[in-house]
Amino acid sequence: MSDVPPGDPAELVASTRAAFRTAYGVEPLLVGHAPGRVNLIGEHTDYNGGLCLPVALPHRTYVAVAPRTDGRVQISSRQRPDELWSGVLADVTPEALTGWEAYAVGVLWAMGQEGLAVPGMDALVDSTVPLGAGLSSSAALECAVAMAALGILGEKPSGARRRQLASVCMRAETEVAGAPTGGMDQTVALMAEPGSALLIDFTAETTRSVALGADAPQVLVLDTGVSHALNDGGYAARRRDCEEAARRLGVPTLRSASEANLDGLDGLDGERLVRRARHVVTEIARVSDTVSAIEDGDWQRVGRLFGDSHVSLRDDFEVSCPELDLAVEAAVSAGALGARMTGGGFGGSAIALVAPAQREQVVSAVDAAFRDTGWTPPTTLLATPSGAADLDREVG
Ligand code: ADP
Ligand code: MG
Repeated sequence: MSDVPPGDPAELVASTRAAFRTAYGVEPLLVGHAPGRVNLIGEHTDYNGGLCLPVALPHRTYVAVAPRTDGRVQISSRQRPDELWSGVLADVTPEALTGWEAYAVGVLWAMGQEGLAVPGMDALVDSTVPLGAGLSSSAALECAVAMAALGILGEKPSGARRRQLASVCMRAETEVAGAPTGGMDQTVALMAEPGSALLIDFTAETTRSVALGADAPQVLVLDTGVSHALNDGGYAARRRDCEEAARRLGVPTLRSASEANLDGLDGLDGERLVRRARHVVTEIARVSDTVSAIEDGDWQRVGRLFGDSHVSLRDDFEVSCPELDLAVEAAVSAGALGARMTGGGFGGSAIALVAPAQREQVVSAVDAAFRDTGWTPPTTLLATPSGAADLDREVG
């Protein structure tokens, strides 16, 4: 089983600058960078006005930029060799951005829509966030581009501006890339604090850092590498179920149902809708319980809440898959405090909460379980809670 290292930030800034010089023949003005994320708990709660608790990964996306005076944008990525995108920013329409550049140039378009007029630029991207693993390389790219573009304008964003950038980046992902997103990824990429998880409340639109403390176990990410394409419409179908359940209950979102009580769900006719709503309602409660348990230093309880979350996602929400179930089962049997699938589901990654001394044992047990089944073992990475998007130098 291979491990994905985050890389040293200073070295990655330097190598991204060097790659920029090779590509464009000039020195970049600055490098913007932003983290991927993994969600500790609170799955499929964002679009239900609920709570979630992601941490920023030490794995980040780096974007070196230099402004141009002719309004043109040129952008390339070391993860997409030979796919340089070039065009005039003023002529960009969402429909014209069809490849990976939708996430990057889409942000520049969305900034323009929000009255943040950015100039043309040359840009070069590099990243240590695995792409398409459910660790939000998409938001890392968007937020790194947004930071870099604002840096060109001489601004390093503060709290309120960061919230605005998060919604700009969300617009790029939904309106340009056409991917549904509830806003967790962009919010944590722009607001996270090192050593902490970020509690996000999607009804109050507030965030709060939850310090994990020096004695916290490690968060081990197990990337199954699978993506069940047949279930592509799964996210949209779950979202429709939740909206329908809220409509029948007469509440704006299932968050309000969660604040009433579970019995209220009896009013839902349709066994499937009851199960979908029950997941959301219990999951929102589990996020609050997890925050209390973390603040009490009760990691055993956090582990049990992870387990309950996984069962709820597997049985009530039906977004797990055999690979995720196996990763979770094997990790817990080998001594993890708890484990669960993370992200939207139908593939992607699981997380296991492990005492540092148990990590080797958990990793080899998961590895063995996958080999026994004839599946390729997951890649692993350590989610050491990191800080928000930033620039490599002071501006303004
Ligand atoms: P995830 O966000 O879980 O990694 P997504 O499907 O949401 O998965 O986003 C992955 C897509 O984002 C990639 O297919 C690519 O289009 C784009 N992307 C992300 N990071 C990069 C990068 N470093 N270079 C080029 N494209 C990227
Ligand atoms: Mg994504």
